[in-house]
Amino acid sequence: MPLNGKHQKTKYIFVTGGVTSSLGKGIIASSLAKLLQSRGLSVTIQKLDPYLNVDPGTLNPYEHGECYVTDDGAETDLDLGHYERFLNVPTSQANNVTTGRIYYNVLSKERKGDFLGKTVQVIPHITDEIKRNILQLGKSGKFDIVITEIGGCVGDIESLPFLEAVRQLKWELGEKNMLTVHLTLVPYLKSAGELKTKPTQHSVKQLQMSGIQPDIIVCRTEHPLPGDIRKKIALFCNVEVQSVIEAMDAKTIYEVPLLMKKEKLDQRALYMMDIYNDKDSDMKKWEEFLYKFKHPESEVRIGLIGKYVELRDAYKSIAEAFIHGGAVNKTKVKIEWIHSESMVAEAVEEKLKDLDGVLVAPGFGERGIEGKIAAVKYVRENNIPFLGICLGMQMAVIEYARNVLGWENAHSTEMEKTTEYPVIDLMADQQNIENKGGTMRLGAYNCKLSEKSLAKKIYGKSKISERHRHRWEFNNKYRTDFEKAGLFIGGTNPENDLVEIIEIPKNRFFIGVQYHPELKSTVLQPHPLFVSFVKASLDYKNSKK
Ligand code: GLN
Repeated sequence: MPLNGKHQKTKYIFVTGGVTSSLGKGIIASSLAKLLQSRGLSVTIQKLDPYLNVDPGTLNPYEHGECYVTDDGAETDLDLGHYERFLNVPTSQANNVTTGRIYYNVLSKERKGDFLGKTVQVIPHITDEIKRNILQLGKSGKFDIVITEIGGCVGDIESLPFLEAVRQLKWELGEKNMLTVHLTLVPYLKSAGELKTKPTQHSVKQLQMSGIQPDIIVCRTEHPLPGDIRKKIALFCNVEVQSVIEAMDAKTIYEVPLLMKKEKLDQRALYMMDIYNDKDSDMKKWEEFLYKFKHPESEVRIGLIGKYVELRDAYKSIAEAFIHGGAVNKTKVKIEWIHSESMVAEAVEEKLKDLDGVLVAPGFGERGIEGKIAAVKYVRENNIPFLGICLGMQMAVIEYARNVLGWENAHSTEMEKTTEYPVIDLMADQQNIENKGGTMRLGAYNCKLSEKSLAKKIYGKSKISERHRHRWEFNNKYRTDFEKAGLFIGGTNPENDLVEIIEIPKNRFFIGVQYHPELKSTVLQPHPLFVSFVKASLDYKNSKK
């Protein structure tokens, strides 16, 4: 019986973490969500991030990995990418809330005088705003279950207000309407030959000190958890032994939902929230994907040229889209991470000549630009399958202008304001923008594909919608010059005629897109551009034999 007597339709699950960061809360949250979804429930996942940036849009990818963009144009944490790839349901701004946004909202209200002279405090004002943001997703009426992942580790000063909000919610929502899943680490001490539970015990104590008793404890471990270890964790952490879930290290994140199914994480969660659901989870399609991914019949080597390659998370969605596109083709995609700054003189040929495909990645600013242009020149001239994404597409345009049209000084005004040929230029509505945060061209826009385009063949339709994150554009002033010189415009925005896709029809596969196809690739809906790019790379590889 809910403690406050009110029955809530939507139930809430909170995922917290302790012992160390990087244990994979996002993947555990996504896996639980997937299993619940596969039982016919509608589920969404939200991430609360403890930092003070209003969103991660202004963060350097070295700091926080890729910035994931939603249909509604929110710049969000990369975990939202996992949520979408697992659930195959779009997320939105409401799915990612930072401490910065919470404070921003509260302080804006304070400036307006909305608090009527009251002292504005962390409790209740900040915690109220946190609760409002959590409950908002449930209020939409679209979800049976909202899973909220709380960033950081228990014990961090930064995440205290989030935990306090969760503690308060237990009383407001009622016991059976919410659940806390705590993820910890059970390390294996080689010298002692033992799994150790103490870090988990301490982590749970820390959570209890915030007034939260975890309902389920998920233990990351390199070795299976024997019964006595499970019992020990249950005893010391105040839960039933069925609530101790083993999360063994997996070869791929896509295996985790099945591991969690074996451990009955979903059943336990449903039981503890009094949700009666006798449907067995239907993970057939997921298993089919996993089988193809784990048993490839071929391999292709695709170069990914970017300036953040030291940190793979900076290109998370691209790497995952290759996994999805590879599985469809029963092909393992081996990504060769190539630093754009290393693309100088003879290195270009040496690094690219044996590749089966090349992707030039999105990015911002001057660094590594000439390397990207040199790479495009090489793949264009040698007819190697090419996919350019956002900045990658812009570099392909500049390369074409310089080396085919003969406009030596052609450039983007992002890198060279006074270039003689601004073939990539700032959009009119971007000219006077001063604030950097949230002001790019963001989110989903329509694109009409040209009748004869390769893109239309690939998508199998002529109207698509894709996500964007950029300020600069193909400069339509030069469009006819490009077209006369053999560059084909594969797609444009139907409202404002902005160029979305460029192609070189005489090459076997040469496509540049102003948008980010990688953001919409999921396990159940691999993105057609990635599927066909992998296929083209495979065909090219086979043709070389
Ligand atoms: N820097 C380029 C622009 O803003 C490309 C952005 C990107 O690759 N996401 O237009």
